[in-house]
Amino acid sequence: MTVHVQNLINGTWCASRTGRTLARENPAAARETVSSAPLSDAADVDAAVKAAVAAYPSWKLVPAPKRGLMIAEAGRILAERKEALATLMTREMGKPITETRGDVQEAIDTALLVAAQGRFLAGETVPCELPNKFGMSIRQPVGPCAMVTPWNFPVAIPSWKIFPALVCGNTVVLKPSELTPACAAEFVKALMDAGVPAGVVNMVCGSGEEAGAALVAHPGIRAVSFTGSTQTGSLIGETCGRLNRKVSLEMGGKNAQIVMEDGDLDLAVDGALWGAFGTTGQRCTATSRLILHRSIAEAFTAKFLARVRTLKIGNGLHDGVNVAPLVSSEQRDRVADYVRIAKEEGAKLLCGGGVPTDPACADGWWFEPTVFGGVTRGMRIAREEVFGPVVAILVVDSFEEAVSIHNEVDYGLSSSIYTRDVNRAFTAIRDLEAGITYVNGPTIGAEVQLPFGGVKGTGNGHREAGLQVYEFYSEWKSVYVDHSGRLQRAQIDT
Ligand code: NAD
Repeated sequence: MTVHVQNLINGTWCASRTGRTLARENPAAARETVSSAPLSDAADVDAAVKAAVAAYPSWKLVPAPKRGLMIAEAGRILAERKEALATLMTREMGKPITETRGDVQEAIDTALLVAAQGRFLAGETVPCELPNKFGMSIRQPVGPCAMVTPWNFPVAIPSWKIFPALVCGNTVVLKPSELTPACAAEFVKALMDAGVPAGVVNMVCGSGEEAGAALVAHPGIRAVSFTGSTQTGSLIGETCGRLNRKVSLEMGGKNAQIVMEDGDLDLAVDGALWGAFGTTGQRCTATSRLILHRSIAEAFTAKFLARVRTLKIGNGLHDGVNVAPLVSSEQRDRVADYVRIAKEEGAKLLCGGGVPTDPACADGWWFEPTVFGGVTRGMRIAREEVFGPVVAILVVDSFEEAVSIHNEVDYGLSSSIYTRDVNRAFTAIRDLEAGITYVNGPTIGAEVQLPFGGVKGTGNGHREAGLQVYEFYSEWKSVYVDHSGRLQRAQIDT
């Protein structure tokens, strides 16, 4: 059954004025069309932004606890629809049903956390230097916000952006990935069904180059929140810089798991399997490098390869599948390209490296779980994001060398170290250049109550989730109330 997605503008689901649509195929059954969605243009974007601009003055006056209640209700609705939404997500972007349930759960968790914040968007009160004068800071909304999102977490990522934006009193236009419009529409529908008024949340489907670029540059937009590739994020950053527009960029990663000589090898193998091949490696936090101490490298690699060979490849809707197809044929070509490059650079292919020969995989975009050994720090496979089921093993002689290799890539999102030495663990927490460090856990598995984001080429200094996300979706106003009844001059009359 094909889901016919429409744009949502001012509370009405409607087609694009262009009349054009884009079909989305099931990555596990490429002849099945899962959804079709509008290919919108600048005029559609303009209508959506105008709706968000018009809805803003009244939405920002709705008390934040009441806005929070609507978000809690959206979370409840998502919980009620979790199974159907997870199934749709597996059909639309491929990842296993256990993981798509997790994706929806992350949005539910975010709703609960953000809803409560509606009662605690706290500022500060401070003593003033002059008598009978009161000083405080308060949070105010920013205005209509543009959200541009990727396909790999098609419900969780919009929830990280839209829930906190709404609770702060902003209105929203979402431009979801062209690969997952049906998931985005279901997410937005939950908000509408929860009672969010028309115009407060709008959605425009379409390509990044046309609809996305028009949205980011639209004069009615006050802030842009983007998650996706570093290449696209840099373009959006340039536009927003030129327009003096607030922008949050969450981009790529080249995450590493370090295993030291005193680490629990079996635990580290479990972590590496999940970190490298969960979501078929298509997570911004995926383990893309294994940095192994020489004394355990051989033993670890043998255990790891034995386990990689047992991973079950298949349709994400089927029980027990570990490795589902990649999201698209383009993504598979990109992964195959990196495998070719790694071989040309002299890396040693230890397992995988191609398209599975099983006839059950003939109709989709699978790629075998792939491990490269003999990788050295200068190789592209050691430095560039692959975004697929490919992991590169680098061998080191010391903790210092592991940290140095970890830090020399352009990205800095997630990191992990397996060690039983508490001193070393804390040194790693201090020295690994990344927004997240796991000790004795894989590079994936963030929880919504802590800030999420990265350093260097991964981001531009903002964080999602946790309490830090409110820094982006609100502006600070400082307020001075002078109840002395006379002119008092700061810094002069003290
Ligand atoms: P992408 O950059 O191709 O697309 C992301 C979004 O940007 C899509 O909605 C797309 O239509 C839009 N877009 C593309 N060009 C645009 C333009 N010129 N102007 C405006 N919008 C434009 O990324 P993707 O392939 O969807 O996602 C994969 C990437 O996302 C990976 O690099 C991954 O690391 C990254 N990612 C990062 C995080 C994080 O939190 N750091 C999370 C998930 C994914």
